[in-house]
Amino acid sequence: MPNMTESEVFDQFAQIVAKSLRIDAAQISPDTHLTDLGAESLDLIEITMETETQFHIFLPDKSILETAVEVFGPGILEKDGYLTEEGKRLLLRRMPEADARAFAGAVSVKDLQSYFLKVVTWVRMIQGLVQYTPGQCAACGGPMAPSMGFRMKCSECGHEITLRSGEEINREWVREYYDKEYRPQAEAPVSAAAVQ
Ligand SMILES: [Zn+2]
Repeated sequence: MPNMTESEVFDQFAQIVAKSLRIDAAQISPDTHLTDLGAESLDLIEITMETETQFHIFLPDKSILETAVEVFGPGILEKDGYLTEEGKRLLLRRMPEADARAFAGAVSVKDLQSYFLKVVTWVRMIQGLVQYTPGQCAACGGPMAPSMGFRMKCSECGHEITLRSGEEINREWVREYYDKEYRPQAEAPVSAAAVQ
């Protein structure tokens, strides 16, 4: 199911959360934080596993910021527990839907953790990842069905593929951003502001 709308993903994800936390799905809105619904770390693990099974995706263990800090090195994207301007720029590029106001002023890494626990953040992450899960076999066009582990198998010809992990996809995006957008600007010898 490579193409799902945000509301389709939301409805299915809300069912997963409701079942896991034994609550009514009507209590869940896009702006709800999973922790406000009572989700603790074990529940988050269960929700993650169920989401991966139902959507046939491989969720990242780390947030995009954690992966980006690994690529950029310390002190560039975050400093003393707060996002730097460079850190905000990267996140806004990755999450164009993010409310720009959420990134105005000082943004602590802790505030960001709460952003990553919002239902809508999960829904958009799932929607982004399902695009990488083929609905049809590349060899014969037959329907793909989940196989063992993070694999999908064609029900007709048996052609198998391994799902790409969310972390690998995130890391690739960060590397490209680093090379094409961050580095050229960081290495510019004299900025316009410095000349004035
Ligand atoms: Zn096939």
